[in-house]
Amino acid sequence: MSNLKNNFIESIGNTPLIKLQAASEITGCNIYGKAEYLNPGGSVKDRAALALLKDAQEKKLISKGGIVVEGTAGNTGIGLCLLGNSLGYETIIVMNDNQTQEKKDTLKNIGAKLKLVPAKPFKDDGNYVKVAKRLATELSSTNNHGVVFANQFDNTANSKGHFETTGPEIWDQTNGKIDGFICASGTGGTISGVSRYLKEKNKDVKIYLSDPSGSALYNYIINGELKSEGGSITEGIGSSRITANFAEAKIDGAFSINDHESLPLLYDLIKNEGLSLGTSCGVNIAGAIKLGKELGPGKTIVTILCDKSDKYNSKMFNKAFLKEKGLPFPEWI
Ligand code: PMP
Repeated sequence: MSNLKNNFIESIGNTPLIKLQAASEITGCNIYGKAEYLNPGGSVKDRAALALLKDAQEKKLISKGGIVVEGTAGNTGIGLCLLGNSLGYETIIVMNDNQTQEKKDTLKNIGAKLKLVPAKPFKDDGNYVKVAKRLATELSSTNNHGVVFANQFDNTANSKGHFETTGPEIWDQTNGKIDGFICASGTGGTISGVSRYLKEKNKDVKIYLSDPSGSALYNYIINGELKSEGGSITEGIGSSRITANFAEAKIDGAFSINDHESLPLLYDLIKNEGLSLGTSCGVNIAGAIKLGKELGPGKTIVTILCDKSDKYNSKMFNKAFLKEKGLPFPEWI
């Protein structure tokens, strides 16, 4: 009975580290992926959802019957909705209409109210995060149990959640013998919280950002300029701005990763290692391999396995879509 969990909240976190065989072999390092897809809502974002809702509860902004509003690429919405269901909150999600149908269906099927908007840059008033914030303000007078804008990008309760859970778990699981940590940034919550914890334990742990093509963060880390080039089919990662969560991250360097590098790694992991991972994991693992080559053999490197491939079937396993974009596809589809 030692692994008994009483509810949804208790089953978030304490995910295993899985050794990535091919990535480790290529680099001579021990490269581990933290299996965040095993969280109850299926992604790393369950941790952010929990941290944001805890923050709202502590600030007495919401009670049973209240409403949570958020702008999300999907995973945070899934976490917030499932968690909200378990706590008696209603969930309203604003999402870009270019995200996969799988994520839209999942959100609807678990009872979230879904508002889809066309993708717009952050500076535009129609940007999904801005729409979510306005909606929360508009609804605030309609519910006396509280209407909360979760604000995953700029509420640093998000990165605090990773500082308090993901970071310590990684430190303990590697017995403090960790040389490098790398992951991509969406809100920046994961890289900020984990980097701050690991650097506090050992300032020599190297923290790298793995940034998808089309994101401005790689150039920001390398030469201080928010500038983007190209694009990517990945979802939930990359940014055109420095969020409050990302601003706190302690980062030593960055790699820019394109879909041609990341997708074959994901297909190989399915075929050879039985790991069926989502698109952001490909960026994380490609980055981990680059970091392994940079740090040299014998090092221990950890990255994040954010979610599974099932949310991206219509992209990752859609031959016509991939061919049209000139991207690699698995031989078995
Ligand atoms: N991968 C996936 C699949 C995600 O949904 C997200 C969050 N948007 C991330 C990675 C990035 O995590 P974070 O927001 O903590 O930077």
